[in-house]
Amino acid sequence: EEEHSGNVESAADEGNTKSDSVVRGWIGMELLCVVKAVLKKIKRRVLVGDRVLVGSIDWVDRRGMIEDVFERDSETGDPPVANVDHLVVMFSMDKPKPEASGLNRFLVEAESTGIPFTIAFNKCELVDQQTLLTWKSRLQSWGYEPVFCSVESNHGLDVLHANLRGKTSVIIGPSGVGKSSLINALRNNKEFVGTAEQDNWFDPILGSNWLDEQRVAEVSTRSGRGKHTTRHVSLLPLLGGGYLADTPGYNQPNLMKVTKDSLAQHFPEIRKMLKEKEPSKCSFNDCSHLGEQGCVVSGDWERYAYYLELFDEIKLREEFQ
Ligand code: GDP
Ligand code: ZN
Repeated sequence: EEEHSGNVESAADEGNTKSDSVVRGWIGMELLCVVKAVLKKIKRRVLVGDRVLVGSIDWVDRRGMIEDVFERDSETGDPPVANVDHLVVMFSMDKPKPEASGLNRFLVEAESTGIPFTIAFNKCELVDQQTLLTWKSRLQSWGYEPVFCSVESNHGLDVLHANLRGKTSVIIGPSGVGKSSLINALRNNKEFVGTAEQDNWFDPILGSNWLDEQRVAEVSTRSGRGKHTTRHVSLLPLLGGGYLADTPGYNQPNLMKVTKDSLAQHFPEIRKMLKEKEPSKCSFNDCSHLGEQGCVVSGDWERYAYYLELFDEIKLREEFQ
């Protein structure tokens, strides 16, 4: 299939069509758009979630042309989505059970994106109330407020939906925790998923700044180049505003954005201690909080051992780079 995609694209490259990408965008309705050839030349690949300028609109056939791509606030790689401003980090209470080191890796990865996130524990119907409370207070002691849900028994989805409203979200987490199940449950429930028409109503005669508001909902996989594997992703419009990527995100955090020097910022416990001790500071500006002389960060918290472990891992990686 990838081989075939490559052929489609090279045909477009030879100049017989305007563009290689078919994009479905919203302008109060879905428009099937091609990308202006000049955009392709300056190597601005259109991503799902991009805000775009649409011209040459044919209202009858609902077609148009993407003439410009606006600056992105963020760009995730896996799945590729532009302007994501919220992540859901999902774990499950059982099958698989949460296990601290895996959990921590995901939390640090999520922190390192700089994108705000919600922590969701799924499959909560599989464990008793006490187990939920234990995890809740554990996460709180780390500085997080988790949401509990059960896609299976339809519990807590309203709370999650409320967290997703008005934002563009991607769900990440280990495999098997229920990410795809959650996406499908939301997609199939009229209480949660809206339509482009409902969300982006505008008056073409009275105008308004609607041109700024267009978001790319789906990019044809035809834009995939040769062996470059593209994961198909589209955005589900949510009732009440916001979008959810319909493809779950990575399940293997590689922590590539985390450096030895940035690691401490990714622990709410350390952030809190530094804030509480203000205006006192660690004696060294570049303190790694490993027990240096004059460090204001104590080692008296649950995840400290994990911080040390991760620090060593990243230090080693940086030395070998
Ligand atoms: P993903 O890998 O994170 O996308 O996980 P899936 O959505 O594929 O779900 C993995 C398995 O967990 C499937 O068999 C689902 O039916 C099951 N599952 C999903 N949500 C729940 C839940 O709330 N409770 C229980 N018991 N099973 C669930
Ligand atoms: Zn320190």
